[in-house]
Amino acid sequence: MELQQIVPSKTCLSCDVCCRFPDRDSFLAPVFTDNEARHAINNGADRNLFQPTADGRSARVKLQPYGETYICPFFDPNSSECRIYPNRPLDCRIYPFALMYNADETEIVLGVDTICPFAEAEFETESFQQYVNYIVAYVKSELTDKVIIENSALIGPYQETVKIVAALGKLGRALEQRNVQGKM
Ligand code: SF4
Ligand code: SF4
Repeated sequence: MELQQIVPSKTCLSCDVCCRFPDRDSFLAPVFTDNEARHAINNGADRNLFQPTADGRSARVKLQPYGETYICPFFDPNSSECRIYPNRPLDCRIYPFALMYNADETEIVLGVDTICPFAEAEFETESFQQYVNYIVAYVKSELTDKVIIENSALIGPYQETVKIVAALGKLGRALEQRNVQGKM
C-alpha cells in the first residue's frame, strides 16, 4: 500500500533539510531493509552505493561529499529530487516521522522530527494529528516483528529533536526478542 504523504512536495522542493547530512558516517543516512535494497537494485540503483549495516541484513547508503556536507547518492542537488523516488525505502517514505528507541532504550517508538519545518509548524493541527494516527497504523502494518529483528539498523538512536507520538507495542515485543538474542 502506497503511503500518503503529509508534507506537500512543493514544500519539500524548497527546503534544504532532507537527503543532506553533516558527516559521511551520519546515522541519519537512510537504511534499506534487505528487500528494499534488492528492489531498488533490481530497478536500476547501483549496488555499490549500499554498504551493509551491523545487523547483517539491511544496508545504509554511502553518502557522497557535496560542498561542505554530504548527500545521499540518490539525491539530485540540482533538482532537489530523489532519483529512486518510487523505490525509496520506508525510512525515507515516513519522514518527518522516524523510528527510534526511547530514551532508556526499553521500547521502539515512532516520533516526529521537529527539525522538519513543516512538522514543527503543523504538529498541533487537526490534520497533522489525524495523519499521526494514519502513519502509526501504516508502520505497524508494514513492519513485522521479523523485519525489525532482521533489519534492526532501521531503529535509530533516541534523538531529543524527535517528538514521540506512539510506542509501537508490537515492535516492542520484537525488541525484547532482539535483546534476548543479543544476550545468547
Ligand atoms: S525537512 Fe520536512 S519540509 Fe524539508 S524536505 Fe524534509 S520532509 Fe520536506
Ligand atoms: S533515497 Fe531518496 S529520499 Fe531517501 S535520502 Fe536518498 S535521495 Fe533522499
